[in-house]
Amino acid sequence: MSVPRRNSVGSTTDHSGERVKVVVRVRPPNSNETGGAITVAPDNKGIVLYRDQSTIPQSGFEFDKVLREDASQADVFQAAVQPIVEDVLNGYNGTIMAYGQTGAGKTYTLSSIAPDAIGMMPRAASAIFSEIAGDQNNAYTVVMSYIQIYMELLQDLLQPQNNDLQIREGEDGVFVAGVHEVEVKNMEECLHLLQVGDRNRVFAFTALNAHSSRSHAIVMLTIMKRRNAAPQNRALGQKVKVGKLFLVDLAGSERLKKSRSVGLRAHEAVSINLSLTTLGMCINARADPNSTHIPFRDSKLTRLLQESLGGNAKTSLVIAVANALQHVDETLQSLQFGSRAMRVHTQAVVNEHTDFKVINAELVAALDKREDKSHL
Ligand code: ADP
Ligand code: MG
Repeated sequence: MSVPRRNSVGSTTDHSGERVKVVVRVRPPNSNETGGAITVAPDNKGIVLYRDQSTIPQSGFEFDKVLREDASQADVFQAAVQPIVEDVLNGYNGTIMAYGQTGAGKTYTLSSIAPDAIGMMPRAASAIFSEIAGDQNNAYTVVMSYIQIYMELLQDLLQPQNNDLQIREGEDGVFVAGVHEVEVKNMEECLHLLQVGDRNRVFAFTALNAHSSRSHAIVMLTIMKRRNAAPQNRALGQKVKVGKLFLVDLAGSERLKKSRSVGLRAHEAVSINLSLTTLGMCINARADPNSTHIPFRDSKLTRLLQESLGGNAKTSLVIAVANALQHVDETLQSLQFGSRAMRVHTQAVVNEHTDFKVINAELVAALDKREDKSHL
């Protein structure tokens, strides 16, 4: 089905001058790791890194929130997702991105379906549908897509044979041409699609003899909201609000030499990293008030997330880190990335435009009626 795209006409500007919100989530060490690498300040905003007993110079950071090892999925939802879901229901674009080295907890945070640790994606879907169920004044349509980007190829995880989708830019912004969009009516349907997509993702990587931690997985939920007036009371030119929620499970941020990519050819390594490297460059450029060029167009990921990185979107970045001495260098790099992202300002607007589909349907109905009468 086709989804109305954003139309600049009729957008209302949000005046709050927001920036990307950065939440750090610390996961506990596992049985192979030694803890004691991280302390969190009592205000739950400051975080300091240690290598052995000593503080690493310049390793103190401050974020919007630091969630300690014992934080629950509900805590993460409240800190990083809930406010954005509310905005998306009102026609804003919203993005939740998880960044960190492989094994730091990105997928667990975003898409765990374990009953005692339900992740952000199912929680967001659940919050969306419960809000919809309680709103008698509006009618909603929700559509879901699920894609991944690997080596600069964009694959549809719901129709995996489509493995080279193109990003296009229309008058309403950037979109994935031909991506499979499924209308969803409840959280269970979203969960089902998530599982279908995850299975396809595992299958694709097994076939490639590669590791899925090298790809970016992106769930897209589009929510269309219309006033619920009866057709005879509906003003011609009814407005529709369109909010898009992106949940982005980024590829592992560790440098390739540490990962399982032994035997990879040089150009593959470059291409695997390209989207993540470009993401870093876009964040740096966005964070620097003097920069004039943001290299969004240099990778698929940044092209798709263009709006999320300082454009028309409310964005939360979850930095996943492990409290493990073994991973201090990668953790430091992740916190530095998060720290730069704190300086990226966004300008979200409500995406509202005239619903031409409804107008057309009404005009056709009116014409039909007239023709019916002319036969009498
Ligand atoms: P990533 O997607 O960043 O590579 P995962 O989400 O797969 O990492 O997490 C790696 C392992 O750590 C998994 O076994 C996961 O269940 C576990 N894990 C991650 N975060 C937490 C957490 N906050 N609490 C408990 N276990 C966690
Ligand atoms: Mg993962």
